[in-house]
Amino acid sequence: MARLHVLEPAPARDALWTAGRAAGIVGLAALIVTLVWSPRIALLTLWNIAVPLLPATFFLSPALWRGVCPLATLNAWGNRVGTPRLLTERETWWFGVGGLVLFHLIVPARHLSLNTDGPLLASTLLAIGAIALACGALFTSRSAFCNALCPVAPVERLYGQAPLLRVPRGRCATCDVCTPRGCLDLAGPKAMRQLIGTARHDRQWLRTPFGVFAAALPGFIIAHALLPDTRGTDAIVVYATTLGASLASYLTVIGVVTVLRTPALGAVAGLATISGALYYWFASATVAAALGAPPVVVPLVRATAIALLTWWMSQVSRPLQHAAPLPH
Ligand code: SF4
Repeated sequence: MARLHVLEPAPARDALWTAGRAAGIVGLAALIVTLVWSPRIALLTLWNIAVPLLPATFFLSPALWRGVCPLATLNAWGNRVGTPRLLTERETWWFGVGGLVLFHLIVPARHLSLNTDGPLLASTLLAIGAIALACGALFTSRSAFCNALCPVAPVERLYGQAPLLRVPRGRCATCDVCTPRGCLDLAGPKAMRQLIGTARHDRQWLRTPFGVFAAALPGFIIAHALLPDTRGTDAIVVYATTLGASLASYLTVIGVVTVLRTPALGAVAGLATISGALYYWFASATVAAALGAPPVVVPLVRATAIALLTWWMSQVSRPLQHAAPLPH
């Protein structure tokens, strides 16, 4: 795939990353304060503008967000205050599964309270920040949080499997291989395939945690987008809806892959395309309404997103000469 190289001279690049990380931490602090003091504007900006734009950056390059994410910065700060050790292989697996569970717990919780309760969301962000810091204090580099427990990591791996931009990683100037398999910053586009491992040679990939997540995601996105905001007492309905739709999506993918004999990498690329298209089908209306854009913008954004994602998928299926990661 033809890619735009983003290779500034190293000192200028490092200064940009440093500024980006500082902006990330300041932005997180400002968000937490605003969620408490002026929740309406903070919730609108976060959920209806910032969050919907984030997945698009993963298709460009997951290195962009991973280089400035304030939670990743807290994770890295934790390395300085503790005596971190390497995760065992078993711990890595469990932390990774924990990230998938957190995704399915936290995202639906938006409908129960996090979409509308600023102070509660501020407390949740503080708690997640403390977990990221603790993970850094206990475990080497970003192995436990950024590469495992972070609920955004599986989305980064799915959408970032064939980045359009080649962006050198913004952290880990000296890699200590804290995550031998599946680190987007170390392995780049190979990360997702490393994570699935040899299971990608047959349908066993659908039994890996990442495979389950990818196959369930289209159903989850539809259910989450169609659910209204409600009260915490409706938690059973909300979780039953998102988990039920995820299960239906997973079973459908198993059926399609079995009948069509779809290779694992083709199926995962297709799932990223479908999930991205579904996400922006719904998110386009949200962002347009938040920005006060005229109604015609919504179908335009939807058509553009579908066209770009279709083109992206056609490029992914080509030989992956681009798979070599960039050095720092
Ligand atoms: S680049 Fe290396 S040190 Fe940094 S998170 Fe990845 S494996 Fe760990």
